[in-house]
Amino acid sequence: MEIAIIAHDGKKAEMVQFLMDNKEVLQSKKINLIATGTTGSKAIKAGFEIEQMLSGPYGGDAQIAARVAEGKTKIVLFFRDPLEKHPHEPDIFMLMRLCDVYDVPLATNPATAQLILKSI
Ligand code: PGA
Repeated sequence: MEIAIIAHDGKKAEMVQFLMDNKEVLQSKKINLIATGTTGSKAIKAGFEIEQMLSGPYGGDAQIAARVAEGKTKIVLFFRDPLEKHPHEPDIFMLMRLCDVYDVPLATNPATAQLILKSI
């Protein structure tokens, strides 16, 4: 099952902590992790195997949105920073919209992400 992880800069530390806390589930063979560029680099440094897309502002969110539309990505964990503005806001909204179009679970904070992972 393909799971996408994305974290804005102010949330990257929380994402790494979340990954470490859920290492066992996320490193199981049935899960294939993909990530936007910088989030992916941090996760790789933390010991995870990740397929990296472009960095978010350069199209990474759009790439993940396309994978949602194609039915490849089944869960999106997207730790957004609600206190910052982002130049790629249209891409962020596109990703969230397509998750709703295709009824793909989308967690925008660690508490929701934890509930989703508990259910798989
Ligand atoms: P990044 O992208 O992982 O390349 O920083 C995240 C984003 O801002 O969408």
